[in-house]
Amino acid sequence: MSLIFDISAPGKNKLRLPESDPSYLSDIPPEMLNAGLDLADVGEAELVRYYTGLSRMNFGVDTGMYPLGSCTMKYNPKINEKIASMDEFAGAHPLAGPEMLQGALEVAHDLADYLCRLTGMGAFSLAPAAGAHGELSGVMIMKKYFEKKGESRGTVIIPDSAHGTNPASVAMCGYEVKEVPSTPDGDVDIRALSAMLDGSVAGMMLTSPNTLGLFDRNIRAIADLLHKNGSLFYGDGANLNAVIGTAKMRDMGFDIMHVNLHKTFSTPHGGGGPGSGPVGVADFLAPYIPSPVIVKKGETYLLDHDRPDSIGRVHSFFGNFLVALRAYAYISMLGFDGLRDVSRTAVLNANYLMSRLKSVYNLPIDRTCMHEFVLNDKDVPNGLTTNDIAKRLLDYGFHAPTVYFPLLIHGAMMIEPTETESKSSLDDFIAVMKKIREEAQSRPDLVKNAPLTTPVKRVDAVAAARKPVLKWTR
Ligand SMILES: *Cc1c(COP(=O)(O)O)cnc(C)c1O
Repeated sequence: MSLIFDISAPGKNKLRLPESDPSYLSDIPPEMLNAGLDLADVGEAELVRYYTGLSRMNFGVDTGMYPLGSCTMKYNPKINEKIASMDEFAGAHPLAGPEMLQGALEVAHDLADYLCRLTGMGAFSLAPAAGAHGELSGVMIMKKYFEKKGESRGTVIIPDSAHGTNPASVAMCGYEVKEVPSTPDGDVDIRALSAMLDGSVAGMMLTSPNTLGLFDRNIRAIADLLHKNGSLFYGDGANLNAVIGTAKMRDMGFDIMHVNLHKTFSTPHGGGGPGSGPVGVADFLAPYIPSPVIVKKGETYLLDHDRPDSIGRVHSFFGNFLVALRAYAYISMLGFDGLRDVSRTAVLNANYLMSRLKSVYNLPIDRTCMHEFVLNDKDVPNGLTTNDIAKRLLDYGFHAPTVYFPLLIHGAMMIEPTETESKSSLDDFIAVMKKIREEAQSRPDLVKNAPLTTPVKRVDAVAAARKPVLKWTR
């Protein structure tokens, strides 16, 4: 596709504004007038077609199924966008005092309350701006807790299946990361864990259900081991979509957790945000959550800054409030029963795909999954790999699954359909995955050179990461 300047030619834009009275312009500094401003000269129809064309070069959840495991790319109801753009919310000035922000504070307060009821936690702060930021805040809470107790514990245990943000958050708080292996069928190796526990272990960070899409069958035993050791149990709640309304993280034994509102509670994400990663804690850790905390006194919402044990501010103002607002709208509309249907349907959809695809691709861990599952490229003919399959999917109008993650499965394809896909779109996906497997046998060239139909073909991903070109020069 060409640039807008390539289709620009002098005089194409027939729109002429009336001459303005030059006396109005005299106060405006000349550099602010459009002298030197390089605008394309095109007509309106051309302009609209140009940008519509650009928008169609992209793939989004509004254009097709987006089975990107771990990311929970569900369809996001458009009403949430409408609510988030209401002037009463979007136009609220962050420096306005609580007396002028009662409605917004009520939303934030009640959302924190919903999250407590859905997870069993005692307190939530909406301040963190994303999952990773929620982790960082949660680990800071862990650190503060031990500081207060006068205990010095220097390590945090993380399983080998963990999301990369987990060790990063732990390391940023000055802890040493120790890795616990998984068993061949995807649970934490509980014997190895027991052997690692001693007075140096501040806690363990575990995603539940885990990053293989599996519910750890020993979750309570893991929690008990940690608690007996005086350690805290941190739950990465990014996969909450699998259990929301069905099981509570506190009941599994977690003391601290974060929620990815942009995943579970429907905010369009990808491409860098905005997101929101509220951090939640059990009652005994409530004094440590970020300040200020929104409290309700009578019918009035106030900001409580008097929190001596708090880890302090982790974000300006109230975090990414409009993401919280979308989550509030989503939860209010579905109700807790509706949320239970969400998780059950997400799990059903994933198991349907898994059971239909396991005869087509290798399924390294074959047991009932939660909201996602992992296939790999073992035995795909002609040396074709996960990368080739992912690229070929684009030709058939599907976004690729998450590939090569988690790291402990060689050539992983991590598939998460979410609850918003219909049976017919799941069946289309199955048919295409089968077709690609057949092509790998009969027309390996097609798969090897895919994508053939997208605006951008195979890019050099390594060069793109190592030598990013962030500035466009004409
Ligand atoms: C997405 C995700 C994260 C990080 O969340 P961000 O909002 O991207 O920072 C952490 N853990 C798991 C398991 C995730 O899927």
